[in-house]
Formats: sequence, structure tokens, C-alpha cells
Amino acid sequence: MILDMFSLKGKVAIVTGSNTGLGQGVCRAYAEAGAKVVGVSRRPSTETEQLIGSENFYNVIADLSSCEVIPEVIEKTLARYGRIDILVNNAGVIKRQDSLEFSEENWDSVLNVNLKTVFFLTQAVAKQFLKQGGGGKIINIASMLSYQGGIRVPSYTASKSAIKGITMTLSNEWAKYGINVNAIAPGYMATNNTQQLRQDEERSADILSRIPAGRWGTPADLEGAAVYLASAASDYVNGFTLAVDGGWLGR
Ligand code: NAP
Repeated sequence: MILDMFSLKGKVAIVTGSNTGLGQGVCRAYAEAGAKVVGVSRRPSTETEQLIGSENFYNVIADLSSCEVIPEVIEKTLARYGRIDILVNNAGVIKRQDSLEFSEENWDSVLNVNLKTVFFLTQAVAKQFLKQGGGGKIINIASMLSYQGGIRVPSYTASKSAIKGITMTLSNEWAKYGINVNAIAPGYMATNNTQQLRQDEERSADILSRIPAGRWGTPADLEGAAVYLASAASDYVNGFTLAVDGGWLGR
């Protein structure tokens, strides 16, 4: 049955940024598709655990602004569920400031979470995939700013453009191990990440008028693509960044 190819039954997924927004939606969808989910968040993912139930969800508390937490994330996942099949690098931060004034703190804090920890967590998970005999799925959360410049968000744009780039690099190196590395580029989604934008009436109206689908996206809009890229249905899809954007990039 074709739908069986989309099942995540028996799989173990790590999803970062699991307490809210897009990460919470991905956790919920993966559990519904049959996976055990390890949510990584710096604050407790209480609401996500309530949505899924504690049998299929385990929360690792970790601040991903430092790579020091990576061994603990891997060890706790293995202690709880014994293996890793899927990693979704979803945790991310955005800092808005005019580029003329942009601070080193706003540069480093964004690059650390959105790029450096993503790379080294991915590397650690890929090593575990190889210990398990190969195979596995990495899904990076990119952005429209993997394609475009944005305004007042230079560190975010740098990080998300780089995410699209390393998705291809890692795919080039690891496809031969049966590891699929892909990314999803969400359009403008109604989450904490865009709260400031949505509060700015002028920017909000500008953005909305440019979305062919005529609405902001929601976490539920990302779930189908996230399940697809985590499942056997995408086994021959490598290094690609899939836009889920209500048509934004086509404009
Ligand atoms: P969000 O609600 O702000 O979620 C971001 C998640 O990342 C939260 O769980 C957040 O935890 C976590 N996080 C941030 N810094 C962290 C750290 N140091 N350690 C651990 N976790 C950390 O926004 P979202 O829209 O769901 O964002 C999810 C991803 O999608 C991000 O990578 C974002 O860049 C990307 N994205 C979003 C949009 C959009 O329109 N919303 C568009 C394109 C891409 P806290 O709640 O504790 O901060």
C-alpha cells in the first residue's frame, strides 16, 4: 500500500524546539504516524507531551546555543528508545536590528543555534546512524531567507542560506550511506517567530498580500512535508529544500 510508505511505525525521531510552534506540530505528526519522539527544548515541552502522551514522547531539556549539550541529547535518546532514525533540526532564533547597528551578540547567538549546533548535532546523529548500520533521515528547517535577503535580519538570513547549502553538502557525502538529508523552507507561518512581524500592521499586510494562498501558514501546514521527508516515501530524495510557503517563492 502506498500509504504504508509514509508510516513512521517503529522509528525514533529527535525534534529540536519541541515546546511550541512548528516543532510542536512536527512532534505531534510524527507520533501520529507511529514514531517515538524525543523533543529537545530549553524549557519543558509540557503542552507537547500532553498532546502526544508520555509513552511516545520524551523531553530532553537542553539549551542548543552550545554544542556541549549534544552528547547528552544522544545519550538520553538512546537510553530511552535505543536508537535514532530521524533528526529534525527545527530550533531556531531570529534577531531583528538594522544592519548598520547589528551587534556581535545578535550575530553569534543566531549563528550558534541556527547553524553551528545544527551542524554538530547532525554530525553526531549521522555517526549513530552509521553505528546502527546506515540509513536515516535528517530534516533541516530552512526559510524563505534561504532564497531571499529579508530586511534587518542579517544573521538569520546568513544562517538559513547556510542551512540550504549544508543540506546539499551533507547529502553529497552521506547519500551513499542511505542517509537522506533534506530541508523544508516554511513560508510565513503564524508562530512566535513571526509575532513581531504580525504585530506590525503595515509589514503584516504587505506580507499577506504577497502570499498567493492568501493566508499565513500554520504548524499543521508543515506536517505533511515533515512526515514525507522522514518516511520511506522520500528514500530517493536527497539534498533538496522543499518550500511549504503558500506560493510565496513563485511570486
Ligand atoms: P518559535 O515558535 O519561535 O519556535 C522556535 C523553537 O526553537 C522554540 O521551541 C524555541 O524555544 C527553540 N529554541 C530557540 N532557541 C533555542 C535554544 N537555544 N535551545 C533550545 N531551543 C531553542 O518559531 P517557529 O516558527 O516554530 O520556528 C521553528 C523553526 O522554523 C525555526 O528554525 C525558524 O527559524 C523556522 N522558520 C519559521 C518561520 C515562520 O514563519 N514561523 C518561517 C521560516 C522558518 P523557546 O520557545 O524556548 O524559545
